[in-house]
Amino acid sequence: MSPSATASLLPPQLHVFVRDWLSANNILLKSRDGHVLIDSGYVRHAPLTLALLASARGIGHAPLAFLVNTHCHSDHVGGNAAIVRRYGCPIAVPAAEAPLIERWDGKALLYDYCDQQIERFAVDHVLPADTTHVWGDLEWQALAAPGHDMGALVFYNAEHRVLISGDALWEHGFGFVMPPEVDAQALPATRATIAMLTALDIRIVIPGHGEPFTDVAAALDRARKRIVAFEADSLRVARHALKVNLMFALLDHQRMRLDGMPEYVARIGIYRDFNALFFRLPPTRFAELLIGELEKAGAAKREVGWLVPA
Ligand SMILES: [Zn+2]
Repeated sequence: MSPSATASLLPPQLHVFVRDWLSANNILLKSRDGHVLIDSGYVRHAPLTLALLASARGIGHAPLAFLVNTHCHSDHVGGNAAIVRRYGCPIAVPAAEAPLIERWDGKALLYDYCDQQIERFAVDHVLPADTTHVWGDLEWQALAAPGHDMGALVFYNAEHRVLISGDALWEHGFGFVMPPEVDAQALPATRATIAMLTALDIRIVIPGHGEPFTDVAAALDRARKRIVAFEADSLRVARHALKVNLMFALLDHQRMRLDGMPEYVARIGIYRDFNALFFRLPPTRFAELLIGELEKAGAAKREVGWLVPA
């Protein structure tokens, strides 16, 4: 099904701004009772997030009543501060994420720990799991979806069988998961979350990244296969997490000096810690290994002294 055909299956008051990998999708729920936005993208793209929101497909000059986050990773909450400045609306985050935001835990939230930029914001409301909310004249159940992020929520509308999945389920996979040596709960939680989603009657998924999709059974099947492969090999989980994080940093910085990479992987927490746990390589060799993985995946290339996205 083409993206526009899939979008036409959504209730008319629901609009998805499909973004890239640096910014999560923004989901707008329009209502005369007040417009609600779910997820705000990455901080460097906040001007575009504001422009989309104020566009004709967005809410124009109308106020925004409420901003909700599926989880608090930098690519989902990066526009929060800018949106509050523009609209003065309250922010709601999953209840399990709120303490991390209150103490601004840059390690648990993977901000400075993964070299991700973020502008600080405050939480006004917390969303406990298993609560129901009316946004865009639709009833949404907030369901716990731990795994990629242990405090994440997904939002499910039973009437239209729509799931707003954040990074818990994409058409091809899900957000990277911490290996068992780092968080023993992460993979079992991911398995339980996919089982929970399998039991839901879902017609269309609006993921945190990529186009909305309707072949939900195939996506769940791919997710289960990935979990089986991860459970068999925790080094694979670690390599995947590092590869995804380095690619995110490369897209953020746009290019990175090759001769600065050993210092970078020795300084930034996730690379330093994972190297100590899994690889135990000198920084020069560790940097070479990670760059090689991005090249092998066709995601990055070397260009006269720089690493750049391919
Ligand atoms: Zn995430």
